[in-house]
Amino acid sequence: MSTDNNNNDDTKKPDRRCMVCRRSESDGISIMTIPPGFCICQDCMQKMLNGISNISISAVTDTGKKKHKDDTEETKKPEVQESTDDVEETKTTDGDEDSDDNGEETFMGIPIGAFRFVMPEMMHGENSRVRPKKKAKEEKAEDNPDVMDITALPAPHEIKARLDEYVIGQDHAKKVISVAVYNHYKRVRRQEEEQFKNDIVIEKSNMLMIGPTGCGKTFLVQTLARLLNVPLAITDATSLTEAGYIGDDVESVLSKLLAAADNDVERAEHGIVFIDEIDKIAKKKNTTSRDVSGESVQQGLLKLLEGADVEVPVGASSKSAMVPQTTINTKNILFICGGAFPGLEEIVKTRLTKSFTMGFNSNLKDTYDKDPLLLGKTTMEDLREFGMIPEFIGRLPIVFALQGLDVDAMKRILIEPKNAILKQYQKLLAMDEVQLKFDDSALQAIAEKAIARETGARALRSIIEEFMLDIMYEIPKDDTIGTVTITADYIHGKGAPIIEMRA
Ligand code: ADP
Repeated sequence: MSTDNNNNDDTKKPDRRCMVCRRSESDGISIMTIPPGFCICQDCMQKMLNGISNISISAVTDTGKKKHKDDTEETKKPEVQESTDDVEETKTTDGDEDSDDNGEETFMGIPIGAFRFVMPEMMHGENSRVRPKKKAKEEKAEDNPDVMDITALPAPHEIKARLDEYVIGQDHAKKVISVAVYNHYKRVRRQEEEQFKNDIVIEKSNMLMIGPTGCGKTFLVQTLARLLNVPLAITDATSLTEAGYIGDDVESVLSKLLAAADNDVERAEHGIVFIDEIDKIAKKKNTTSRDVSGESVQQGLLKLLEGADVEVPVGASSKSAMVPQTTINTKNILFICGGAFPGLEEIVKTRLTKSFTMGFNSNLKDTYDKDPLLLGKTTMEDLREFGMIPEFIGRLPIVFALQGLDVDAMKRILIEPKNAILKQYQKLLAMDEVQLKFDDSALQAIAEKAIARETGARALRSIIEEFMLDIMYEIPKDDTIGTVTITADYIHGKGAPIIEMRA
């Protein structure tokens, strides 16, 4: 709540501010301080208590008011404490805390433990600014040899080589994303160096990925974030609505990022946000009602993509009086949007064939019908035609396409990635000293089944789970089994796997 209209006394006398609703004493409300330094107004306290139990503080309100009147007169009284990792119980002088008969610390007759139960995060410090928790993450980065050192700015070819270990195919996409990420973190580092403060401003490299479902858009971003050890928030654009309407408002993506960064604001400010299904927020055509989940969401995202200070609720997806907030600057957050954009191919095709539709060249109009790289020819114009607003596309300067996966790519996905799904099953059975083999016909059969489901590589796991269930159930029963070979017949339900006994 704004305090802009406060009188000038505000600046002279430090007044306490409710860490939930952000009103301060100068707004004429009573604020109480709960150790170790959590300030809350009586309204919020009542709401909080209503929420957890039927405890009423009305019986003690008068006492509380009286005490807070006294408090305000004591100008030397401790302010909200910035808490440290080893939180010390800071004693305030308001006398609100006490001990009950059991020796347990109480506040207004309510055990302090109750407050901690309701608002563990809120108990931490001033303005709900969340404490950095760096140590744990840094240790993790050192322990994990898989992680690249982002501070050493790995070159694009190094990033791509690491992505190759996990993501099959999609060479163009991996190349684009590696260069974009390299430039992004170079830009971030340059900005932080004092000598470049007034130098040429390098713009953000936010990206837009276009590709059919299950082709690896999310997986690519997840792998990238894991390799770089930066926090990643994945959100679905379909769940977003204009602020004030049912659904999450756009700022909720930053809450997720903050949570992914273990509430470390600094880490979150260098993280990656992936917004999936971005095509679903295209401008609705021929609609007379307010487009709260389409164009308005695009509008709402503009300032995040560009770079702004945003008040973000901590530990919740929407702002409310009960949720503490913190400020995140989005200028160094890398935004990657992805979507399948159904119908975009048609738009691109129409544009490309426009010049051929009349006269002698008219027979060329189906030239692009079977072009697998058609989406790679997408322009800003096509995206506008699709329903994305120009300001939005303008903030995603890097646009690239991923291709649908064919049978060969599916087969490779089954066996090649470092943590390929078949390798995982082989590992599991190896623990029972059983060797699991797949002959090529089986791989082909699984890949063909997956293509038929039209959900991309996502189908692979469910197909494998279906036929592996019996194997995983039956094999451990018999400890004479040495090798199991899966064949195409078994995948098609026409036969059993080939079993070889131990020597
Ligand atoms: P989408 O493009 O719809 O975001 P996902 O990235 O979620 O698809 O892919 C679903 C799953 O399929 C991933 O978790 C991953 O295991 C697998 N997958 C998809 N594409 C690839 C790929 N190119 N290489 C390796 N695995 C892939």
